[in-house]
Parts: sequence; structure tokens; C-alpha cells
Amino acid sequence: MIIENLNKFYNELPSRVKLIAVSKTKPIEDIEAAYNIGQKRFGENKVQEMVDKYNKLPKDIEWHMIGHLQSNKVKYIAPFVSYIHSVDSPKILEIINKEAKKNNRIINCLLQIYIAKEETKFGFDEDEIMAFLESDLYKSFDNIKICGMMGMATYTENMEQIRNEFKNLFTIFTNIKSKYFSNSEYYKELSMGMSGDYKIAIEEGSTMVRLGSSIFGEREIINLFKSRNT
Ligand SMILES: *Cc1c(COP(=O)(O)O)cnc(C)c1O
Repeated sequence: MIIENLNKFYNELPSRVKLIAVSKTKPIEDIEAAYNIGQKRFGENKVQEMVDKYNKLPKDIEWHMIGHLQSNKVKYIAPFVSYIHSVDSPKILEIINKEAKKNNRIINCLLQIYIAKEETKFGFDEDEIMAFLESDLYKSFDNIKICGMMGMATYTENMEQIRNEFKNLFTIFTNIKSKYFSNSEYYKELSMGMSGDYKIAIEEGSTMVRLGSSIFGEREIINLFKSRNT
């Protein structure tokens, strides 16, 4: 089924939209099946799981961290991670920059924006982003690239609410672009959309969709719950 599902998405997604296959909780064999038909971008939300999979799989895979990161764990993924979508505080970006420098790398980062009406979500709001981008601390970071933003809509059946949250994120994304990144060739990614809401996300300007269950099948219910809170 994995191959059929992926092919369906390859046909369906506009060419400007990158597909991040979210393989969290799924076995190596599932990732290999996807890789063997050309899928190179995979998303994980736990450091240890990403490291284990990185060690066992081909080295041209592009690994995307999509889950909340703890400071003391950044060092384990810094040698190889391609994108971190879940940059949700100045402190974590400072640590990413430091660990990237140790590895002589530049790590692509997306600023996670809090758009949902839920208590548990991590992320910046627009004022915090602006204050941070104007700070001297931010200007001293040479080993990270800000490539855009990421956001998660509220977990709800209310499609209008989801659409409004994505519209709001798109507005923040473009405001910040015109204020701080109008000359950046890197700031261009808007990571929004999961299996349940990717169609709306694409209509509202997404350039990266993070699809898990619609490719690999449902995860254990406990992980579904955790994925939205950790
Ligand atoms: C698990 C997860 C996804 C994928 O969710 P699906 O509903 O299975 O597509 C996307 N983004 C984040 C941040 C996740 O944790």
C-alpha cells in the first residue's frame, strides 16, 4: 500500500509542494519501500528514533525533525539532520546553531508558529518572532539558515477553523518575509498540512506537507495522541 499511496500523492501534489513522508513509529522496511521508489525526504518527531533510522538507512535520505526538541538532544541529530521544522524558542535555535558549528554544518530551520486554539502546542507568536529576529543574539547565528515557517492547525473536524488558522499562518509567513527576509534566497518554505488537512493547507499556500498515516497507515492510537503533544 505504501507505494500506491505515495504514487497517488506524487500525481496529486502540485510541483511546488514537497512531500515529507512522516515515518515516526514505522519500521525500517516501510521507509525502505518508500525510498526504493524515490522518496528521499522523511520526517521523525523523536531524536532517538531518527538517529537509529539514520544509522540503518542510505545516507542520501534527507531527515526532517518535526517534533519538539529538547536542548540536550540536539547534539545527536546535528551531524546529519537536514531541516528542523520545530524551532519553537530562541534558546533551542541557539543550541542548534552551536551544535551545527561543532559539526561544521549549516542546518536549515523553520520557525514553528503557534496558530492553534489548543493549550498544548509549542511555538512562537508573531510578536515574539519579530523581537527575536531583531535581537543581537539572532544576528550572531552563522550556522543556521531560516528557511521559513511551520505550523499545526487545531485538531478538529471544523474545516473552516483549520482554513482560518492556515490563512493566519500564511499572513505571518509573508509579513515576516517582507520585513526581514525580502533578500533571502532561503526563506521560502511554509510547512503546513498533515494527512487530515493537507488539501486545505495547499490551497492556503503550503510548500511542504508532512504526511504520515495517509502513506504508511494508522499509527498506534497512543502515538497519534502523543504526536500532537510532544
Ligand atoms: C505525526 C505528525 C505529522 C503526520 O501526521 P499524519 O496525520 O499521520 O499525517 C505531521 N506533523 C507533525 C508535527 C507530526 O507530529
